[in-house]
Amino acid sequence: MATPARHTAHRTRAGFIPAQQRTRSSLATLLLCALAACASPGPDSQFSYTPPTAPAAPEGASGFTPKPGWQAQRFMVAAANPLATDAGYQVLKAGGSALDAAIAVQMVLGLVEPQSSGIGGGAFLMHWDGKHVQAFDGRETAPAAATPELFLRDGKPLPFLEAVIGGRSVGTPGALRMLEMAHREHGKLPWKDLFAPAIRLAEDGFLVSPRLATMLAAPEAKTLRNDPDMAAYFFNPDGSPRAAGTRLKNPELAKVLRDIAAKGSSAFYEGSVARDIVAKVRKHPTNPGLLSEADLAGYKPKQREALCTDYRVYRLCGMPPPSSGALAIAQMLAILDHTDIVKHPPVQADFGLEPSPQAVHLFSEAGRLAYADRNRYVADPDFVPLPGGSAASLLDPAYIKSRAALIGERSMGVARPGTPAGATLALADDRSPELPSTSHISVVDAQGRAVAMTTTIENGFGAQMMVRGFLLNNQLTDFSFLPAENGQPIANRVQPNKRPRSSMAPTLVFMRNSGALSMSVGSPGGSAIINYVGKTLVGTLDWGLDAQQAISLPNFGSRNGPTELEQGRSSAALADGLKARGHDVRVIVQTSGLQAIQRSAPEGKVMWFGGADPRREGVVMGD
Ligand code: GLU
Repeated sequence: MATPARHTAHRTRAGFIPAQQRTRSSLATLLLCALAACASPGPDSQFSYTPPTAPAAPEGASGFTPKPGWQAQRFMVAAANPLATDAGYQVLKAGGSALDAAIAVQMVLGLVEPQSSGIGGGAFLMHWDGKHVQAFDGRETAPAAATPELFLRDGKPLPFLEAVIGGRSVGTPGALRMLEMAHREHGKLPWKDLFAPAIRLAEDGFLVSPRLATMLAAPEAKTLRNDPDMAAYFFNPDGSPRAAGTRLKNPELAKVLRDIAAKGSSAFYEGSVARDIVAKVRKHPTNPGLLSEADLAGYKPKQREALCTDYRVYRLCGMPPPSSGALAIAQMLAILDHTDIVKHPPVQADFGLEPSPQAVHLFSEAGRLAYADRNRYVADPDFVPLPGGSAASLLDPAYIKSRAALIGERSMGVARPGTPAGATLALADDRSPELPSTSHISVVDAQGRAVAMTTTIENGFGAQMMVRGFLLNNQLTDFSFLPAENGQPIANRVQPNKRPRSSMAPTLVFMRNSGALSMSVGSPGGSAIINYVGKTLVGTLDWGLDAQQAISLPNFGSRNGPTELEQGRSSAALADGLKARGHDVRVIVQTSGLQAIQRSAPEGKVMWFGGADPRREGVVMGD
């Protein structure tokens, strides 16, 4: 794989001061600590955080800001906000593990990109320790008191936003306990150290990024003001939204994080924070929820067997159900293996590389087939097992071959779900909508460990309720609102203590022959995550693009509806080529937030190449 000769990762972007150039003398650090209630950890600490002195956000919030890709020799971290990436970078530089860095990144993301993820939400984390892949499930759960009718009124599904805003949609958060579980196994630095960057930024303040400012100024943000805590934090006293570059402090969150740093996740799941969460959820004025203190105290993250499948010379490992991400991607790739998509690389368009009509045709048809099965069969496996009891039936080579045979020269329009072996339970399709927020973190450390973690509070700003400086998720709206259709149960219906089906697809890629890690990748984007990550995998593994080129490639695909092309980044020739193949083409906004780190030269000097999505604010750093 060719590695473009570009600047090294630690130099990051113009205007963002390289970590190496900062004053790091212990005297300076001591002075800073004395002056600014420094969050630096105790005497046994190996890690002392230095806040970046640069602007919080080096680029515009919307549109497409080309990114160069970054390279580094030993370690690398890619995340959706420069302050979060920098926190991970400093942890890695201090000798922290990939998992340590992911924790520091997550805590800063919850502060600076609060609309997307945080301790009030859930996450899936894939971990590679050099020998084993593990899948950590920190998905939210439905309250014990939830019923399949949670999102029905007079037998009809609630309008989406009515369900989202308020306590009804709040699931028991899982991200923090999952990170604690993973840290017990894979942490190198003390747990408490990893909160220092977020605490410091919360206390001293951080600059509102353009993307956050744009979201606050959007018409849809009107309802955020209904929550008094959000109104006070995200809006000025005159009601106007905080502008980009405004310094925002979050002392309440800093206090919560200090407690979690000192006492562990019980400081969140029990005691006064848990009580405040429950009170807020249950006392919502128009849409109260069912979450209880017992739900919080009883939350259990899970380790699941990673879903690993072979594709050409690669082995891909991702999150099994309750996420549909890895399974749908594995089906798509297995189906594409029956096609000649590899012979249809991207072509040059006005704005850069663009996939060819034939490639989009094949990819979209494979997507239709995979999404059809996903909507029918995938849910929390502890409640509704996959056909045959595992992913094997849906990935069986004969079954995949029969599905691939449905792809012709013209679009099939809408695919019907298949009948894999063991599909005895009669189920109806789930049509639950998902709107994009969420964030993805990829890390590799100097010892070759790696993380791919996708983390979410579901919709932008979650349930639109703030408690102690963090936002509560609305993850329960990832369940099907309808429990059944035409008398058939829907696999992804609400049930007490169940995890809603996800599309998140944190993915680790390995070389089949050597077992070496080849890539860590993932994206936000609701149900389109499957297409975004699938595109990046086809781009890198089939077409030989580097991670940045593959991420930057226009988004495309079908979720078993129309064939979707990315607005502003698709040519008329592409749309015409698809229409000629019978596709119903829609050109829509597709704001992925891909991050990827790939091994760039097996024996070369530069080891890692990272890419961040030009559609969001992410950057990559490393040494
Ligand atoms: N809640 C979605 C899921 O778990 C992710 C939302 C998003 O990416 O915007 O699949």
